[in-house]
Amino acid sequence: MKTLLIAEHDNKALSPQTAKALTAAKQLGPVDLLVMGYECAAVAQQAAQLQGVEKVLLVEHSELTHQLAESCAETILAMASGYTAIVAAATTTGKNTLPRVAAKLDVMQISEVIEVLDASTFKRPIYAGNAIQTVTSNDSIKVLTVRTSNFEATPSGSECSVESLTLDVQAGPSAHISDQLSVSERPELSSAKVIISGGRALGSADKFQEVILPVADKLGAAVGASRAAVDSGYAPNDWQVGQTGKIVSPDLYIACGISGAIQHLAGMKDSKVIVAINNDEEAPIFQVADYGLVADLFVALPELEAKL
Ligand code: FAD
Repeated sequence: MKTLLIAEHDNKALSPQTAKALTAAKQLGPVDLLVMGYECAAVAQQAAQLQGVEKVLLVEHSELTHQLAESCAETILAMASGYTAIVAAATTTGKNTLPRVAAKLDVMQISEVIEVLDASTFKRPIYAGNAIQTVTSNDSIKVLTVRTSNFEATPSGSECSVESLTLDVQAGPSAHISDQLSVSERPELSSAKVIISGGRALGSADKFQEVILPVADKLGAAVGASRAAVDSGYAPNDWQVGQTGKIVSPDLYIACGISGAIQHLAGMKDSKVIVAINNDEEAPIFQVADYGLVADLFVALPELEAKL
């Protein structure tokens, strides 16, 4: 019984998602951590410090620079026979690569695991989080993605060995052209401790700037949005929280002018404290809110900013 956990990184630093996925992976048994990339030895050293990792496997190759699904899947498959489980965080990278691994192994993928009951039995949300499914897999090798917002990060503080492997990684059918990254001084939405989100009620991108951003600046918060706000062009796509956006679980989530549709709740209901500001006291968001303020957000938020 041994698990291979796929490390998430940008060739320079290990993503915090890996330490969270490790907490889930360790519940399956001993864990080796696979770092695939190019000129990423520093990442392997960071990974080796996570408590409970047996060893770090480092595969460096220019074809792995951008961690395209085809090359990564081939690399994982080359070493899969030694493992009873292959685990990755359910991020865009994990969700890109692991289905290919599962298909090539001819096993089912178990996606977005939120709880490990035993080495074969897992809980995962379905129907936008409205029901929790318990899945038992008889596959000889389990392929799992883990919803990291449900697991605390494994701390660093130990040191295991790093084993460099030489693999002949072939170019896949797709190629990396360029990255277009949005640059923000604010905390990253998926890992922010405080998030303030705006919905359709904002009415324009200018109002987001005028009303939401000043409070976000005062709180050092990341900014989120409902899909209605994104689709209306009030907020950029990468701010969307929900079933088809980002899954977040900050210490504090402030929803402003968001009704609380199930697809939005699917992305934020695991937040530790939820505050809702809405002028409709019947809005469903109040059913999940710890603190609810029935108010016009255009009055309440400037007042809040002034008080902060
Ligand atoms: P609305 O539902 O229109 O709510 C606006 C709220 O603002 C209302 O409650 C109103 O009372 C309040 N309001 C109005 N004026 C004020 C004011 N002045 N002050 C205070 N409050 C005010 N949605 C997501 O958010 N994320 C997703 O990932 C997502 N994925 C989806 C996937 C699918 C397949 C589908 C079908 C839908 C998805 N949706 C998603 C859309 C979702 O169903 C809702 O349509 C959307 O969340 C509504 O956004 P909203 O709450 O901003 O707008």
